[in-house]
Amino acid sequence: MTSKDNEQELAELITATREHFSYIQELGVEHIEIAIALPDHAPSSLASDSRVVTVTDRIAAEPAISSANKTSLPPRSKPLPREALFEDLAPTEPTLAASTETFEEIWDSIGNCTRCPLFKGRTNIVHTEGNRQARLMFVGEAPGADEDTQARPFVGRAGQLLTKIIEAIGFKREEVLIGNINRCRPPGNRPPTAEEVEMCKPFLLREIATVQPEVIVVLGNTAMRNLLNTREPISKLRGKFQDYKGIKVMPTFHPAYLLRDPSKKRETWDDLKKVRDYLDAKS
Ligand code: URA
Repeated sequence: MTSKDNEQELAELITATREHFSYIQELGVEHIEIAIALPDHAPSSLASDSRVVTVTDRIAAEPAISSANKTSLPPRSKPLPREALFEDLAPTEPTLAASTETFEEIWDSIGNCTRCPLFKGRTNIVHTEGNRQARLMFVGEAPGADEDTQARPFVGRAGQLLTKIIEAIGFKREEVLIGNINRCRPPGNRPPTAEEVEMCKPFLLREIATVQPEVIVVLGNTAMRNLLNTREPISKLRGKFQDYKGIKVMPTFHPAYLLRDPSKKRETWDDLKKVRDYLDAKS
């Protein structure tokens, strides 16, 4: 490799890093923690009892941390046991039985569905999309106009924001699974009725049984209430791991809501960071 290649690679890396920071900044992140692994021969002034130090670095438009502050690292607190970190709940429902059904079999049984009135207004049925071995799944409410036209979940403006959220926690969109409680677009994008949910949700549950993701992120009230069978509002449960038959469920705001109220991106980022930390700790 020539030094020109190296320079080019470095320039690309810097551009990619900048883009990533601007993604997560857009999501409301104000600071990030960087763990630095020091080599064995690091001076003892840098590594006292451990070879890993944590520094906090601000990426938002806040005054830069003075160099004096940067070198006086905060004392390391004793690590919490994993259960405390992730509020591990004992599953409240029986663990989900593994299924050998394929998505194609599930979709065959959906067929050209007319089980609920939503079929009358649809252009396409919008099936769950993505990696069928995914560790992480996102569930929304129902397709909107763009999704109905393209027969793909989360491809409109809210979908583009969801893609950024996924990338901000270090996944590619195609590495996760993305679905909806309902597969046909409700008129005027109203939430699906209880009857419409009752007809459609079982297919999503069958897909979940097939994939058995480790975490499901439910986006907004409709997805959260219908997966968890609760009437609680998203504002109460968001950011706290819940349980669906042994699978961790993280409720957070729907990206369409974040488009209307960007100030909620910060909380969404906090929720998604918990998901990332949980998956990292498990892998
Ligand atoms: N909103 C949703 O809940 N799902 C989609 O697929 C698109 C927008």
